[in-house]
Amino acid sequence: MSANGKILRKGFGLRKQVAPLLSRDFDSSLVQRARDSGSRLEWPTLTVRIAKEFGFCYGVDRAIDYAYETRARFPNKRIFLTGEVIHNPSVNRRLAEIGFLFLDGSQGSDARWEDVGPLDVLLIPAFGVSIKLLERMRQTGALLVDTTCGSVLNVWKNVERFARDGFTCLIHGKWNHEETRATASRALVQPEGSYLVVRNMEQAERVCAVIGGREGPEKLRIDFESASSPGFDPVRDLVRIGMANQTTMLSSESLEIADCIRKALTLRYGEERILDHFRAFDTICSATEERQSAVVEMMKSPPQLMLIIGGYNSSNTGHLAEICTETVPTFHVKSVDEILSATEIRHQPAWTTELVTTKDWLPSGDLEIGITAGASTPDREVGAVIRKLLELRGLDPETIPPLKD
Ligand code: SF4
Repeated sequence: MSANGKILRKGFGLRKQVAPLLSRDFDSSLVQRARDSGSRLEWPTLTVRIAKEFGFCYGVDRAIDYAYETRARFPNKRIFLTGEVIHNPSVNRRLAEIGFLFLDGSQGSDARWEDVGPLDVLLIPAFGVSIKLLERMRQTGALLVDTTCGSVLNVWKNVERFARDGFTCLIHGKWNHEETRATASRALVQPEGSYLVVRNMEQAERVCAVIGGREGPEKLRIDFESASSPGFDPVRDLVRIGMANQTTMLSSESLEIADCIRKALTLRYGEERILDHFRAFDTICSATEERQSAVVEMMKSPPQLMLIIGGYNSSNTGHLAEICTETVPTFHVKSVDEILSATEIRHQPAWTTELVTTKDWLPSGDLEIGITAGASTPDREVGAVIRKLLELRGLDPETIPPLKD
């Protein structure tokens, strides 16, 4: 039977059926033990402290659950993904193993858009898709299963309201990140809608300088061409601004950017008229905030070093690494495979996109290591890293709590 591009936004009521499979693929008894024992595990010469909040957020939990429920509901159908369902390599690999086909060619998939038809299923990822991509998906006639996180939908609602009310949407995010592209596309639901994406405070200050007349508009227009709506005109489009953000940005920076834009507009138009020129809603998701607050708290009495576990393209994982790097030696690794030996670790330093190998990273003697993981990292990955640390410290396996993973 053809689905004609119908969109399903709820699961299939198979949560109980898929729960044991999810647990088998992503849980870790060792990490559960840490959660049960105040986020601290101790062995002779090695203490592992885990941040109070880490790993799968509610949006990722739900997306993976839907993916597994979809597989269970349609065991004989082809199920396609436009790309990663979340930014974690092991999760996407697992989906490929259970038959998901990746239209971006990742996971060794040779699936093509022309192959997708009305008898198939297409999964929308947790960070959503742009309006244009959604239309393309609909045109295949496949059944669409939408795993877009509710917190992302909440941002879209605000962006659409800004556009309706004639405000340019200023997004704190990475312009080429899937979620930000999807969010920005919502500003264009109105013919006159416009958006501009700023990555950080430095870029926001340039926008403030243009609002305040300290920088000319033309250079900003050229420099931000890829990060703004077609035909973006700083003179016309920086008069009424509504703030939004990619849900996984550094929440403190999002607030600073909103404050900086508000001040610039206040200076230009006056406090009494600010409501006509500036709007902001806090749209950083609570899961992102909690994970960031947990490492800020940990850094008040820091361990000797931090391991941050999560995909290198995972925005929220990268921000956790940035916070910790300010205080202690920090290594962001995508998985246990990056821990090459007791003397070598491959990792992505904060604020970079390059991988480097660091030597002599693991101090000898009594050691306290801190661990956290991004919102798309399964507990299983965290458990694997802890086991590797034990192995490298040559700890007697008998002292290791019994493991299932
Ligand atoms: S990080 Fe936040 S917005 Fe993104 S999927 Fe998780 S809960 Fe949703």
